[in-house]
Amino acid sequence: MWSVSLAGAFDILFEPIKVGPVTAPNRFFQVPHCTGMGHLRPRADAAVRAMKAEGGWGVVSTQETEIHPTSDLTPYPEQRIWDARDLPALQLMTQAVHEHGALAAIELAHNGNHASNHLSRAPIFGVNEMSVDLLSPRQARQMDKSDIRNLRKWHRLAARHAKEAGFDIIYAYAGHHMTLAHQFLLPDVNDRVDEYGGSLKNRVRLIRELIEETKEEVGDSCAVAFRFAVDEVKGSDGMQAQEEGRAVVEMLAELPDLWDVNVSDWANDSVTSRFEPNEGYQTSYIEFVKQVTTKPVVAVGRFTSPDMMVSLVRRGIVDFIGAARPSIADPFLPKKIKSGQLEAIRECIGCNICVACDNLAIPIRCTQNPTMGEEWRRGWHPEKIAPKGSASSALVVGGGPAGLECALQLSNRGYDVTLADANSELGGRALSESRLKGLAAWKRVSDYRVYELQKRANVSLFLNSSLQAEDVLEIGIQQVFLATGARWRSDGVGRSNRAGLLPCEPGIEVLTPEHIMAGQKPSAGPVLIYDDDQIYLAGVIAETLIAQGHEVIFVTPASIVSPWCELTLEQERIQKSLLNSGVDLQTGQVLSKLTEQGAVLSCVYSNRMSNIHCKSVIMVTERQRNTGLFDQIVQLQLVRDLQQISVKLIGDAAGPGLIADAVYDGHMAARQFESNSGEAELEFFKREIIALED
Ligand code: ADP
Ligand code: SF4
Repeated sequence: MWSVSLAGAFDILFEPIKVGPVTAPNRFFQVPHCTGMGHLRPRADAAVRAMKAEGGWGVVSTQETEIHPTSDLTPYPEQRIWDARDLPALQLMTQAVHEHGALAAIELAHNGNHASNHLSRAPIFGVNEMSVDLLSPRQARQMDKSDIRNLRKWHRLAARHAKEAGFDIIYAYAGHHMTLAHQFLLPDVNDRVDEYGGSLKNRVRLIRELIEETKEEVGDSCAVAFRFAVDEVKGSDGMQAQEEGRAVVEMLAELPDLWDVNVSDWANDSVTSRFEPNEGYQTSYIEFVKQVTTKPVVAVGRFTSPDMMVSLVRRGIVDFIGAARPSIADPFLPKKIKSGQLEAIRECIGCNICVACDNLAIPIRCTQNPTMGEEWRRGWHPEKIAPKGSASSALVVGGGPAGLECALQLSNRGYDVTLADANSELGGRALSESRLKGLAAWKRVSDYRVYELQKRANVSLFLNSSLQAEDVLEIGIQQVFLATGARWRSDGVGRSNRAGLLPCEPGIEVLTPEHIMAGQKPSAGPVLIYDDDQIYLAGVIAETLIAQGHEVIFVTPASIVSPWCELTLEQERIQKSLLNSGVDLQTGQVLSKLTEQGAVLSCVYSNRMSNIHCKSVIMVTERQRNTGLFDQIVQLQLVRDLQQISVKLIGDAAGPGLIADAVYDGHMAARQFESNSGEAELEFFKREIIALED
C-alpha cells in the first residue's frame, strides 16, 4: 500500500509555515486564479474556494480583486473591493475557507491600462499615455502625481477593507503585465521622466510604496504578500530574472512577508502542456529568489508530483508549493498526498480549458474535474456522490472520456458496472488525441479513470467488444449508457460549407483526423489540412505531420490559425510554430473543390478562386455522432416492446464538444441516474439572482 510504504516521505509538505503575523497550516498554497464567478457569483466563488480548503490547501486565494472603479474589468467577473459594500460577498469566501482551517488571501489589483472601465466609464489610467491593453478605441492617460496619490489611497483602503472582510494575507500584485504596479516596473513600458520613471529605483518606487502602506495599514494582523513576475520570457527584450528581475527582489527583499514569484505574461505563466510539457517549468527563473530573501517564497509550475514538491522544498527553492491549475483539477491533492493515495490524484493535463472560461467570462470548468464550478449551484463534491437507487447494475458502452467518467461515478455510487469498448485499449479520444504532437499529457484523462476502474470489485471491463443491439439485450442489463462518441466527417461539410464537396477525384487521398490519430501517414504530399473546425485539432495535426517530415499546406476560412486557441492562450504560439516550420498558410480561404491536381480555394471575402497543388487532404470540419447502436436499440424496443430498458446517449454521442464536455456529461448522467427529483430550480441548477432591493 502507498500509505504504508510512503509514510513520512511527504511530512515536510505538511509543516506549518509562518508568514508575517499569520501561520499557514501546511505548504500547499492555492495562488490567485480566476473562476469566472467573482463579484457576480459570490456564493459559487466561495464554494470553489471552500472546496480547496476542505481538500487541504493551507492557503486559498481570491482571483485578482479590483480596488476601484478605475480598475473595472467588465465583462470579466473578477473579484471586486471597490468599497465596504463589497465586503459581505468577500466574507462568504473568508468564512468558508476559515471553516476548514486554511488561511484566506486576497490579491489586490489596479489594472491600469489593462482595465476596460466598460462599466464604470471612468478614465483609464496608464503609466504613460498609451493604448488600452484590450482592443478598445479608448486610450489610457498618463497618471499625474495626484492620480498616483489617489491610487495609493485606494490600495490602502482596499487593504483595510480586506482585513475587515477576514483575509489573512493581502497581496500587492506586479505580474502578468496586468497591473499598474507591474507596468511601472517594466522598462519597455514605463517611459516617465519623473521620480516614478527612468532608473530601476524610480520604477520600483510605486510598488515599494504600495507594500509599505499595506503593511502600515494591516501588517499588525495580516501578512503582506508581493506577487512579482521575475522574468518576461522575452530574453533581452524584456525584464530578465538574472538582471533587473533579481535586482527588484534584492531591493525589496525583506519588505513583504511573502514572495509569490512567477513569469509573465499570463500565456507564459499558464503555459499549456502542448507547449511546455514539463512540471516545474518556471523553476529555473525563480530559483534565485530564496537566496536573496529570508521571507517565505511560493512559486508555481503545474506541480502534481509529491516527490518534486518535496525536492523543491528540500533544495531551498520554495517554502510553499503554489498551484492554480493542479488545485482546480484536484482540490483534494494535498489530502490525497497526506493519506498516501497518490494514484487517486487527478492530475492537471495542462489544456487551459479553465483559462478559456475566464477569457469567455463564464464560470470555470475543468477537463479533469467535472465538479469544478458546480460546487454551489449543483451541490457537487469532487470526492462524494450519493449512493445508488433501486437498480443494481448498469451497462456503459464506450470507454472514452464520457463512458469512463460515467462508469467511475456509477461505481462510486455502488452499482455493478459493465463497461465495454470496441477497441483494444480504453480511453477513446483522450487516448487517440494524446498520440498527437504536444498532447501526451491528455492521456491522464483516461489513465486516472482506467486505473480507478481496474481496482473496483463492482466493475467489469470488456475490450475488443463492439456491441450490437442484440448483444446489449443479451447482456440483460436494463440501464444502458451509450458513450459511443463521434467521428470526423470526410465530405467537407462544416461551418463554411453546408452542402459539402463532391466525391473526390481519383489521385487525391482524403483522410480525417481519425486516420492520423491511428498512426496512418498520408501516402503522398504536399498534404493540405483543411480546418473549418477552427478549434484546436487541425493545428495539432499540422504540427504532428510537420514533425513526421510532411510538406504541409494549412487552409482555413478563419483569418488566423486555430482562432479558438486565443482562449487557451495558445494561438500565437501555434501560428508562430507553423510559420517557423515553413507551412504554407492560406487563411480566409474555403475549400471549394478537389480536382486531380489538387484543391480549388475560394476567398472568403472576394470569392476569388485559386488552385493549389496537393496530393492528400485532411478534413477537419465537423463531427457526426455515432448513434447507430442507440438507433438499433430504440428500434428493437419498438418491435419487441422492451420498455423496461432505459438507454441514454452521453458525451460526444449526445453532442460533440471538448473532452471537458464529454467528461462533464458522463459525470452528470451518473449523478442524475435514479436521483431524487428535486424542486424545479434544483433540477437544473441554483442561480444567484440579483436582489431587487432599494
Ligand atoms: P466521448 O468523448 O463521448 O467519451 P469517444 O469518441 O472518446 O467519446 O469514445 C467513444 C468510444 O466508444 C470509443 O472508444 C469507441 O471505441 C467506443 N464505441 C463506439 N461504438 C461502440 C460500440 N458499438 N460498442 C463498443 N464500443 C463502442
Ligand atoms: Fe488543468 Fe485543463 Fe483542468 Fe485547467 S482545465 S485545471 S489546465 S486539466
